[in-house]
Amino acid sequence: MSFDIIKGLATTFKNIGKKPTTISYPEEERELPARFRGRHVLHRYENDLERCVGCFLCAGACPADAIYIEAEENTEEHRVSPGERYAKVFDVNLLRCIFCGYCEAACPTGAITLEHEYKLAAFYPEDLVYHKEQLLEPVGQATVGSSAVWFDPPPSEAAQPMPQSLHVFDGSQASAAAVGLGNIPTDEPVLLKDVEQDEDRRKFQHHEDREGV
Ligand code: SF4
Ligand code: SF4
Repeated sequence: MSFDIIKGLATTFKNIGKKPTTISYPEEERELPARFRGRHVLHRYENDLERCVGCFLCAGACPADAIYIEAEENTEEHRVSPGERYAKVFDVNLLRCIFCGYCEAACPTGAITLEHEYKLAAFYPEDLVYHKEQLLEPVGQATVGSSAVWFDPPPSEAAQPMPQSLHVFDGSQASAAAVGLGNIPTDEPVLLKDVEQDEDRRKFQHHEDREGV
């Protein structure tokens, strides 16, 4: 018997009797963290009006260009949302979506949140473009969704290492991911070139030089 087989068997015997780290999905499911971001939900107010006012802020904030909206004017005869407009068409392309939650953060009315639905398989790609009819809460079942768990500040380990203590943003201490560069290291501080815009920074550095920091 080769040494490799003995080594393999040793690993097997070492782990016999240990509790498995896997679960038998789909019979068993893991409990998800409160801030887990799954499929989007469009919310209503208690009086069943839709929260979405068709402002396009979520679509503008989306880094993956995954949201498509067509807005329509509300009229007194046909009022869908409390605002001037409502979303007549609201599509989220879940094949493009990276579940970053920027749309949720950008929404001024709490109309869109990312909830705990993650079973998102389909045979055809077009089935993963979710339409308003699939995303919207049913009448009489208004909730605020996961917005509630974002009211508290995030845990410190989740915060981006932004150089707020220096009172000026130069990009050099921000994580590469935070400035959209993936894991590419920044070689030099990103300084503003415009003289007027750079004034605060020069004042700050002058103060630092005098203090001998
Ligand atoms: S979660 Fe991110 S990628 Fe997905 S639709 Fe919202 S903003 Fe776009
Ligand atoms: S979901 Fe929110 S941000 Fe997006 S269009 Fe509707 S109101 Fe505006």
